[in-house]
Amino acid sequence: MKYNFNAGPSILPNEVFEQASQGVLNFNNTGLSILEIGHRTPLFQGVLDEARQTVRELMHLNADHEVLFLHGGATTQFFQIPMNLLDEHAKAAYLDCGVWGTKPIKEAPLFGQIEVVASSKDKNYSYIPRHFTIPADAAYFHYTTNNTIEGTQMHCVPETPVPLVADMSSDILSRSIDFNKFSLIYAGAQKNIGAAGVTLVVVNKNVLGKVSRKIPSMMDYRKHIENGSMLNTPPVFAIYVCMLNLRWLKAQGGVEAIEKINNQKADLLYQTLDSLPLFKPTVVKEDRSKMNVVFVMDDPEQEKAFLDLCKQEGMAGVKGHRSVGGFRISLYNALPLSSVQILTDLMKHFAQKRG
Ligand SMILES: *Cc1c(COP(=O)(O)O)cnc(C)c1O
Repeated sequence: MKYNFNAGPSILPNEVFEQASQGVLNFNNTGLSILEIGHRTPLFQGVLDEARQTVRELMHLNADHEVLFLHGGATTQFFQIPMNLLDEHAKAAYLDCGVWGTKPIKEAPLFGQIEVVASSKDKNYSYIPRHFTIPADAAYFHYTTNNTIEGTQMHCVPETPVPLVADMSSDILSRSIDFNKFSLIYAGAQKNIGAAGVTLVVVNKNVLGKVSRKIPSMMDYRKHIENGSMLNTPPVFAIYVCMLNLRWLKAQGGVEAIEKINNQKADLLYQTLDSLPLFKPTVVKEDRSKMNVVFVMDDPEQEKAFLDLCKQEGMAGVKGHRSVGGFRISLYNALPLSSVQILTDLMKHFAQKRG
């Protein structure tokens, strides 16, 4: 396959794959593999330090924010967050704008009260609800910045006096926003940060230590902070891949530079979709995601023909999620603009012949 539009785990730069492979064989010319050295050696400590420091730099984090690499995927954060931030009789506010938005809403009531402030389920999550009120007494407000499955994205940060908590799994480090506005940000690494097996958590330490329940050590953010994100053996290889990819992003000019290219990729694809009536984007224009572009065709025969053509041309990961159907094109940081040019040329060609 030559062009990788997978939704996750997803494309990383080729040089990251090469360096990661080299690290497995002979890490930094030590004659040892990254897989066989102690995690508390200076060798691995250097990897973890660089990964955490590069996150700080790329996100322009202030001193209140701590950077952690944890186990258990974004899915563990669905319950770890209320366990740490929501007291039994307190309330947290949640926005329901996609399949990934519903999952934390199922977990949080195990720990406290929740209020769903708005939902776009009525229209198959094809838009982001606009008019909602976040209760001023909520312990926090949780939302998903980019809905990976449905292809919607929240383009601005909601104004609220309560602590902001966001699942940024599929658009973290893809655009510049004020990350310091958030009390807690989390992201499974396998979409825009690195390899599966590790989750990035950025937390403002001032929101911690306020709940009355007892928290198991591995679930307690404070314990992870005290132990420098090394409370137990961390997922060393996954963190190594993250470090290499973060280093790559920094060398590209950081989030501000990659955002320009991400905008070009999304603009080209949406302009092409809008110019070809055969392809029908499923999301309202103002909420379109720049990371995951979702569209269908009216005729299942045509869909199959286009899918086959994509496969034949060496394109991976273009099939849509089963809950939406059609197509989903993921445009994560590592995807070059040239891949989108090839795809849009193919779409134009297909529409000319079949439209
Ligand atoms: C992929 C994804 C998840 C799931 O992440 P895991 O690391 O598999 O738990 C959660 N939220 C969003 C927005 C995602 O895209």
